[in-house]
Amino acid sequence: MQDNYINFERPETLYSGERVMERNGKIQDLTPSLLFKRKNPQHIQIETTTRCNLKCTMCPRQTYDYARLKFDDMTLKDFEHILKKLPKDLGTISFHGLGEPLLNKDIVDIIATANGGHFNTLLVTNGLLFEHSMITNIFQSPPGQIIISMDSPDKFRYEQIRKGANYNVLVNNIKELINEKAKNAYPTHIAIQMVVSENNFSDVSNMIEFCRRHDIPSLNLVGIHSEIRSLWKKKYH
Ligand code: SF4
Repeated sequence: MQDNYINFERPETLYSGERVMERNGKIQDLTPSLLFKRKNPQHIQIETTTRCNLKCTMCPRQTYDYARLKFDDMTLKDFEHILKKLPKDLGTISFHGLGEPLLNKDIVDIIATANGGHFNTLLVTNGLLFEHSMITNIFQSPPGQIIISMDSPDKFRYEQIRKGANYNVLVNNIKELINEKAKNAYPTHIAIQMVVSENNFSDVSNMIEFCRRHDIPSLNLVGIHSEIRSLWKKKYH
């Protein structure tokens, strides 16, 4: 893995999920106030579900009042409606938000529909639902990029941060994903995304090693506070 594959910054993102779906599960019209506020957006984020299988410690979902909210999925029909409204020169559609996209039963068709519209597609997932059949289905119309959230190569720390996750399941899923991609020469770029905080900063080097060992070509480091950024610079520059 080369150093330039370690990305500190998020791409420019136009957050749309909450406004497109709102918390009552009803689709909102993509009005100019959302899409055209920013001229020529390059990257739009679609939140295809408001449900999640985890309770990660750093997730804004921890502040939700669950009793008052309705959780729901975007349907393929909802997505087709949105797709018609997107600018044709939009570069990337990414599927993630405050929910796990693989919980949406239409996610494979949603990605395939976006691919059919010649958009670059990006799926961000916690990776825990990537069992064999899901991997096979997703690769029927491969996304441009799959990013898997993993905050530590250490089982205890990973499961401490990603509450409800199983480290062994994740690692097996990652291995299977990488193998399937290699075996069939799918063009999808696979990356690990690590949300770095004081709690797991010491794991960054081991995370790089983990990626090398498993032939994962990219590691995205996000959520780095300024003091962590300077710690990083002090240690590695
Ligand atoms: S997997 Fe993502 S959306 Fe779900 S709780 Fe964790 S950070 Fe939040």
